[in-house]
Amino acid sequence: MKTMLQIKVTKTKHSRLPETDFNNLVFGRSISDHMFVADYKNGEWTDLRIEPYAPLSLNPANSTLHYGQAIFEGMKAYKNPSGEILLFRADANQKRLNESAVRMCIPELPEEIFMEGLTTLLDLDRNWIPDKPGYSLYIRPFIFATDDYLGVKPSETYKFMIFTCPVGDYYSKPVSVKVEQHYSRAAEGGTGFAKAAGNYAGSLYPAQLAQKQGYDQLLWTDAKTHENIEESGTMNVMFIINDTLITAPTKTGTILKGITRDSVLKLAKEMGYVVEERFLKVSELEEALQNGKLQEAFGTGTAATIAHIAKINIRDNDYILPKKPDYAFSYQVLKKLDDIKYGRIEDHRGWIV
Ligand code: PMP
Repeated sequence: MKTMLQIKVTKTKHSRLPETDFNNLVFGRSISDHMFVADYKNGEWTDLRIEPYAPLSLNPANSTLHYGQAIFEGMKAYKNPSGEILLFRADANQKRLNESAVRMCIPELPEEIFMEGLTTLLDLDRNWIPDKPGYSLYIRPFIFATDDYLGVKPSETYKFMIFTCPVGDYYSKPVSVKVEQHYSRAAEGGTGFAKAAGNYAGSLYPAQLAQKQGYDQLLWTDAKTHENIEESGTMNVMFIINDTLITAPTKTGTILKGITRDSVLKLAKEMGYVVEERFLKVSELEEALQNGKLQEAFGTGTAATIAHIAKINIRDNDYILPKKPDYAFSYQVLKKLDDIKYGRIEDHRGWIV
């Protein structure tokens, strides 16, 4: 592939492809041969390169290790039936990375470095992209501070990197969730909308408590009243009540603007659903569960696309949701999104590159 930017490519001498078992892929464990790297120094992103995937060397005073100036993205590449590499809404990930960057005082990354770095890397590691239905290549772009300095201030140097992992058919078994009304993931004015490393660190302990009680994930509520349902650990959440699709708005800056969320909302409107971007109250959800009005509940995110919710715990009461028929909205929209991502139907929305 021809690149406009100068990207120095050093190929690996020992591909790990032959020893990778594509039939037993564990999410995030098998990593492809190469990584893209760019450095930020003297006020610009420079030294664009692709190197064999390898450990980094960091000084103990590296500021990310102490103050957590780190952001990331999660996206996927797919192969269509003729073996072409397809990216789903990569432009949206690129924009979101820069929104996270601004909030965390990290210099924005020019779009062409993101896109050309990514496409050059994918071209080089194209044999790592599985071509089996349901399989894909998970892509992890990220930026972190690299100053060796213990003063609390924005770093003056950073690294942008991308590496990739082949991932298997993510059969998402229905999940059980617990509505969290004590701990908070994000507060207004905070960093909830950013894909910042620290957001995930802070969510682990409450999530672990719920896991010890047998739930897969939390349903986070707002930090002020704990009455408004926001999102889940790594997914936005949607509910269908009275044939209306309800999901939390993004205007408070406390939830991640999921790209799957946005895609599902657009498809829902095309399919004629009434969509309400508003906070569903915990009491409203409980009432809908009690009187059987909750038709569907599911999470949306890059990893699983759609994760059905089978059990919801509210204030120590478990509510079991009946299994949905195949014609339910969540199955229809999952099929439609998969068909678009794998190039099985034409994409007239400009989502596929
Ligand atoms: N919320 C959070 C907190 C997440 O980490 C993710 C995964 N990126 C999502 C929602 C879903 O976002 P997307 O659809 O862009 O993967």
